Amino acid sequence: MSDPLAELNRLQERDLELDQIREDQSRIPEDLAQARLHLRTLEDRLADLQDQLREVNLAYHKVELELQDLKSKREKARAAQAQASSAKEQTQYGEQIRQLDDRIEEIEGSEKKNVEGQMAPLVEQIYKLEEELAQVKAQVDEARPRLEALEAANQQRVNDLEATYQSQKADRDRLAATIPAPIVKEYESIRKARKGTGLARMAKTGNGYRCTACNVQLPMHVAQQIHQAQKVVRCPSCGRILWKGE
Ligand SMILES: [Zn+2]
Repeated sequence: MSDPLAELNRLQERDLELDQIREDQSRIPEDLAQARLHLRTLEDRLADLQDQLREVNLAYHKVELELQDLKSKREKARAAQAQASSAKEQTQYGEQIRQLDDRIEEIEGSEKKNVEGQMAPLVEQIYKLEEELAQVKAQVDEARPRLEALEAANQQRVNDLEATYQSQKADRDRLAATIPAPIVKEYESIRKARKGTGLARMAKTGNGYRCTACNVQLPMHVAQQIHQAQKVVRCPSCGRILWKGE
C-alpha cells in the first residue's frame, strides 16, 4: 500500500501548478497596461477639450447675441434721431448712439483705434481648440485599434491557459480520487486557510525535527507519530499536515 501522504504531496504539487496558471491568467501584460493607460489619458484629454470648446462657443454666442441686440438698438436710435423734432432730442439720441458705438467697438474691436475687441480672441481660441481636438481625435483613432488588438491577444492567452488549467485540473481530480477522502478534505481546508500549502515535509535538524513550512522545532512525540504514519498529524505551530517524506 502506497503512502497516502506521498500521494497527497503529489496532489499538492499539481495544486500549486494550477495556482500558478490562475496567477498567470490574472497578470496583465505590461504593453496592455500601458496601452489602456494611454487611451484613457487621451480620452480624458479629449473630454476636457470638448468641455473647453463648449464653454468658449457659449461665450462667443453670448457676445454675438449682445452685439445683435446693440446693433438693433442703434438702428432704432438712428431712426428716432432722424425723426427727432428738436435739437435737444437729437443730441440725446446722438449721445445714446455714441454709447452704443463704444460698446459695439468693445465687442467687435477696431483696428484703427487698436482695440482688440471680445470676439477675435474667442474665435482664435475656438480655432486652437478645434485644431487640438482634431489632433487628439486622430491619436485616439490610432490608439483604440491597437488597444483592441492587445486586448484580444491577452484574451487568447487567458483562454489558452484556461484550456491547460481544465485539463490539468481533470488529472488532479483523478489523482485526488485515489487518496482517502477525509485526508484530501482536511488538506484542502488547511490549504485554503493557509493560502497555498496544506501539507509540509518535516526535516531533520541537529537535535530533532522541524516543520519545513513554518520552521518550528517539532516535539519528539510528534515526530515519532509522523514516522509511524498511522494517523494524520498536524504541525502544532502552523497546523499543516506533516509528512515524513519519501
Ligand atoms: Zn509548521
